[in-house]
Amino acid sequence: MARVFSGIQPSGELHIGNYLGAVRNWVALQATHECVFCIVDYHAITQAYEPEQLEARTFDMAVSLLAAGLDPARCILFVQSHVPEHTELTWVFTTVTPVGELERMTQFKDKAQRQESVLAGLLNYPVLQAADVLLYRATVVPVGEDQVQHLELMREVARKWNARFREDFFPEPQPMLSAARRIVGLDGDAKMSKSLGNTIGLLDPPERIWELLRPAKTDPARVTRKDPGDPEKCNIYSLHQYFSPPDTVRHVADQCRTAGWGCLDCKRVLADNLAAALAPIRERATELKARPERVREILADGAARAHAIARETMAAVRDAMGFLPAGEVTLRR
Ligand code: ATP
Ligand code: MG
Repeated sequence: MARVFSGIQPSGELHIGNYLGAVRNWVALQATHECVFCIVDYHAITQAYEPEQLEARTFDMAVSLLAAGLDPARCILFVQSHVPEHTELTWVFTTVTPVGELERMTQFKDKAQRQESVLAGLLNYPVLQAADVLLYRATVVPVGEDQVQHLELMREVARKWNARFREDFFPEPQPMLSAARRIVGLDGDAKMSKSLGNTIGLLDPPERIWELLRPAKTDPARVTRKDPGDPEKCNIYSLHQYFSPPDTVRHVADQCRTAGWGCLDCKRVLADNLAAALAPIRERATELKARPERVREILADGAARAHAIARETMAAVRDAMGFLPAGEVTLRR
């Protein structure tokens, strides 16, 4: 059975872009693959963050993922920093990764623009990601389109390490994209991102969903209520395609083209369908939040299972690279 690995940062709330682009695939893959899913807190600290928020965000991400359908009986769910081999293998991989390749990563260039001084952690982000996946020798990586470039680099890292130290040891992981490979944010422009504040949270209640949708960008051609629009240029229409039934989607497109509806009418229908689709996830999250000890237990069990695999990989890596094994302590003083 092929092994799947994917991760998500606790850099904010799980949003519908993460869900449609990645997490929905994670849930489905549990039925067919051996799945390892990780809350990547070491990645999250490469952007500005508040230490007093990290624990709660990590915990809330676990709650959201479980509520979205991850099942600890069918996958491993754990927190990256609980398995120290992730950072150990990262260091090893930095010694086979060309800096020039890291500097040309689109995500690095985007995020570096938002940092006052550019830090090495942000540059090395894809190396940590390569370590995450390759530590489990996973071959399938369900992600959004923004991560495809990092996966290419990951394959290069695997090839370089294999060529130098042990042939065919690491597989070359492939991305698995969903139909919703890039959800645009409520600004109608950038990718929906936790760090950009243009998101709808998976656990947002109906009032909040409406508050967020009401001012969201639509087709700029619709300046007044009477101006017809082009649904293909409207992010609200694209969201209808994921959350509204097919005949509603067709009706929405007609009403947009003929200016039968105003944008607010269109958003109201989306808000209702979105709230209905997310209701069961919110309910499960409420139940989980009432049992925080259960969530911690799931993460501890996940870390123990992940650690068992990671330890084996790291032992083979150390052996192939020629390190002196750490012996048992037998000296008597
Ligand atoms: P940040 O802004 O902190 O980078 P993010 O919203 O981009 O947060 P990540 O934790 O970086 O979320 O990514 C988690 C997963 O969600 C990845 O597989 C990523 O490709 C996917 N993803 C993120 N944003 C989108 C989006 N707008 N559309 C589709 N997939 C997405
Ligand atoms: Mg991201």
